[in-house]
Amino acid sequence: MEKILKVVNKFLKKNFNITAYWNEDFEARVENREVGFTIAPLAEDTQFFVNDAIARYPYINADPFLWLLFHEVGHIMTENIWTAEELKYFDAQKESLAYTEDDQMRNDWYHAVPDEFMATRWAANYMAKNQKKVAKFWNELKAAIVDFYERNQLSYQEVEEEEWEDNLIMIDEEGIRWYRVGNN
Ligand SMILES: [Zn+2]
Repeated sequence: MEKILKVVNKFLKKNFNITAYWNEDFEARVENREVGFTIAPLAEDTQFFVNDAIARYPYINADPFLWLLFHEVGHIMTENIWTAEELKYFDAQKESLAYTEDDQMRNDWYHAVPDEFMATRWAANYMAKNQKKVAKFWNELKAAIVDFYERNQLSYQEVEEEEWEDNLIMIDEEGIRWYRVGNN
């Protein structure tokens, strides 16, 4: 866990002067330049976000973790293009979407809120322009995650969806896809 946080922090500090912290979900505390992250399995809404980002920017080949992390970084990096009033309005727009029951529609509308659109676009641009740097970061991070699994004798096998809560992970053929934060 320590090593994982260290790798993420080192990258974000050096490149964006952003601090990372463990959290239950991905989030940005824009005013503090802080990004929360997790290696837990993706929530359904989060999976929608990732699928959507991949569909919109098919030329980017990135793990869901990177889409999620750089989207949050994108919020911080694009924040100054909006006024406080605009951001407040965007938040209200997003809150109203909670009542939209259709998952795809909710996701589409969420993406259409300007600060969300710009955060994802920033993430795509950054990953496209810094492929080598991002690949190096991902390799280092993946190694730290695998090391964490090994030290904690965690299974690499696919687990049933309902087991995600208790077990840790799934790593698929293409590399690491599903993770879960342990207690240590
Ligand atoms: Zn967002």
